Amino acid sequence: MAMHYDYIIVGCGLAGIAFAEKLRQSNKSFVLFDDCSQQASMVAGGLYNPVMLKRFTLAWKADIQTEIAQPYYHELESRLGVKFDYKMPVRRLLRSSEEQNNWFQATDDPVLKHYMSDELIQYDESAFDCNHGLGEVYHSGRIDTLKLINTFRKALRAEGRLIDKSFKYEKIEIAGANIKYMEISCHRVVFCDGFGLKRNPYFKSLPLNGTKGELLKIQCPDLKIDYILKSSVFLIPLEGDLYLAGSTYNRYDKTNVPSEKGRDELCRRLNKLLNCDYTIVDHLAGVRPTVSDRRPILGTHNKYKGLCVLNGLGSRGVLIAPFAAGILFDHLENETPLPEEIDISRFS
Ligand SMILES: Cc1cc2nc3c(=O)[nH]c(=O)nc-3n(C[C@H](O)[C@H](O)[C@H](O)COP(=O)(O)OP(=O)(O)OC[C@H]3O[C@@H](n4cnc5c(N)ncnc54)[C@H](O)[C@@H]3O)c2cc1C
Repeated sequence: MAMHYDYIIVGCGLAGIAFAEKLRQSNKSFVLFDDCSQQASMVAGGLYNPVMLKRFTLAWKADIQTEIAQPYYHELESRLGVKFDYKMPVRRLLRSSEEQNNWFQATDDPVLKHYMSDELIQYDESAFDCNHGLGEVYHSGRIDTLKLINTFRKALRAEGRLIDKSFKYEKIEIAGANIKYMEISCHRVVFCDGFGLKRNPYFKSLPLNGTKGELLKIQCPDLKIDYILKSSVFLIPLEGDLYLAGSTYNRYDKTNVPSEKGRDELCRRLNKLLNCDYTIVDHLAGVRPTVSDRRPILGTHNKYKGLCVLNGLGSRGVLIAPFAAGILFDHLENETPLPEEIDISRFS
């Protein structure tokens, strides 16, 4: 018997979850397909941080995104009955007096001063050298994305809304406003397929480049920090003596497989930073859905208006996903125009 839904979502990463939550809040019916072929959301460091820590500028629309993301993750934690949002400051290791000056200059900015402390923190332990102090970023923290995804999938499965299968793009049949996919019919399919978009015949021409990232989980008993340290690597504290160290950026390798090259690069950076020993406990890799102009890609197919895309979250999916999902939902349901800079029509 044919089943009818308002929406099919393809992909249960940060994008698919955020869009599913919009549908749930509006009582729209949906099913979600996922085949675990992409790993970005599962292996992500999960860091959210509104400030770009290279040049001390606000990340793209990070103030609005932070305002949307905070209640979104809070409500999702309550609904799922699990904690995955660990709020903690990010501290940037300053390497010179020039960097200190740049930091202080940035804290004069009326927007940035909400996110950056104008007092530097000294660190006197021996685990790493800190001659120029640490600059602290507020409103930052870490989402345990793996815990979020696993809990979300479990809840969807219990509701009969998760289909643990590959979505076969070639099985779509379109007849006017109705879309048929095997025994399912729906009004719209929203593709949140991450770098899997490269196999999606409807949207594969979009300039999604993909940037592989690798992370190490390390045990480092002498480090003892309860904040996220940003130097040449991010060090994100987990439970006990465990830390996530990452991540690499590789534009050529498009596989989810951890590589020797990635591990060596991270070890080189860690060895330069740390004065203490560490052991590698795990090594993770995934492909970030990055776009040539570094903006998300949202919109509908130029011929088949029921086929939609929510992708291009790049390296900041934690903050961008709830923001972008809201924009796409308002566009589809309320005909709110998409901002030009994220509309896929910018590439046509
Ligand atoms: C090493 C690393 C570290 C990162 N660290 C951070 C960080 O600290 N903070 C941050 O904000 N971002 C981080 N990112 C980026 C972040 O992971 C991405 O922005 C985000 O996960 C993208 O989410 P997505 O849902 O668009 O894509 P994905 O997570 O790739 O999800 C796509 C989903 O679609 C499914 N799928 C694809 N094709 C099909 C199909 N045909 N049928 C069924 N299912 C399908 C896949 O299985 C997958 O579950 C990191 C990424 C990496 C790789």
